[in-house]
Amino acid sequence: MTLIVIDPGHGGTDPGATYKNVQEKNLNLATSRMVRNNLVSKYEVDVALTRDDDQTIELKQRTDFANAQKADFFLSIHHNASGGSGFETFIFNGTVPNETIELQTSIHNKIAKDILNKYGILDRGKKRANFHVLRETKMNALLIEVLFVDNEKDLKLLMNPSFIMDVSIVIADATAEALKLPLKYKPIEGTLYKVIAGSFSDRENAENHLNKLIQKGFGAFISTTVIDNKNFYRIQAGAFADRENAEAFVAKLMNAGFESFILTEEGMPSMLSAVPLKADKGNKIQGEAVLSAKQMDVYARSINPGAPDLAELYLSQSKKYNIRGDIAYAQALHETNFFRFTGDVKPEQNNFAGIGATGGGARGASFPNESTGVLAHIQHLYAYASKSPIPAFDQKVDPRFDLVNRGSATTWQALNGKWAVPGTTYGQLILGLYKNMLEAALKEIEKERIKVKTAIKNLEI
Ligand SMILES: [Zn+2]
Repeated sequence: MTLIVIDPGHGGTDPGATYKNVQEKNLNLATSRMVRNNLVSKYEVDVALTRDDDQTIELKQRTDFANAQKADFFLSIHHNASGGSGFETFIFNGTVPNETIELQTSIHNKIAKDILNKYGILDRGKKRANFHVLRETKMNALLIEVLFVDNEKDLKLLMNPSFIMDVSIVIADATAEALKLPLKYKPIEGTLYKVIAGSFSDRENAENHLNKLIQKGFGAFISTTVIDNKNFYRIQAGAFADRENAEAFVAKLMNAGFESFILTEEGMPSMLSAVPLKADKGNKIQGEAVLSAKQMDVYARSINPGAPDLAELYLSQSKKYNIRGDIAYAQALHETNFFRFTGDVKPEQNNFAGIGATGGGARGASFPNESTGVLAHIQHLYAYASKSPIPAFDQKVDPRFDLVNRGSATTWQALNGKWAVPGTTYGQLILGLYKNMLEAALKEIEKERIKVKTAIKNLEI
């Protein structure tokens, strides 16, 4: 999948341009987040930000990050200052591939056509400069200067949430068009799941709420609807063809403190079809392991004395992805019946997670060795628990990685019905097995304690 790195200029101790109490770094971050949200909610694309909060990062770190991720496109977002007004874009003024020039032309022209006339903004043109982020990036790179923070006319627009929203949507669409990103859904097909982050009878309250969402980096807009001859202002923060993606987005909004719910397109305009949803409940898939490799191996061998030495591999592969390696190991014990492989998968497949083994005798994926098999298992969990791309240091070895709705299950309990279909207790079974592992480890510790205490007591000093 195409990976775009968006770079919100400045941050932390570097505010960028400042005027009155406006700091460029905050505008860059808010716009960048909204561009990202618009891109990932509408297109098949991965987006990573060089910073997703107010932190100080050097220019070199920004380009190193994009180069290490092997990004396909680098988009730096800034705002201008010191004597001027309007919009401009930059590419590197040294040698660049024709493609870079074509991308600048395509993106710049679409933004100019869709937004500049509408708001009466001056087009300062397509420019070239020797900026670090344009020179040191190995992929096509573009820097956008949206507007001038120290120009009263420009600033008035920058303080208008509808403008920020409009410009972010257009930057996202222009980038998607230039990079030929496929749409996530065909608008005419099936049900559309709209994520609503609030519904108000008072327009001002709706606008205040919209502002809060935008400050937190969510792209949203107000749509009006009439119920019982009364106007309602509904804040739409996203729209998805896939219910799971809509649910994941609701979870994200809830985590950020915004009550939200899903409306299906057919269900409108009645609010009765609203389905309130909560963030994934339960125990996180990501995090640090508690048990040691020895404790894990000892437990597996207490049930199957012939169990292979896999705990160390589970811990080291999981650590790279911030996945709970000890619980992933419990999942492997569950899937393989303690490495006795009594199901459809055979031991020589090195498939410890039942990847592609969908039941009815389907044997599923095979891996060349234990290490790759464990890595595929961890990557499959990572696909559910995170939306980030596979880190640059690893190959994608999970053959079903791209079939997962990225980020659709952040807890073991949320794997129910997703990893195992049908399944209402899948996560609970894994955690139950993990609990047994913890209790066995605790017993061993108690035994050790008694042994050590006895040794101390028996000393005749
Ligand atoms: Zn700047």
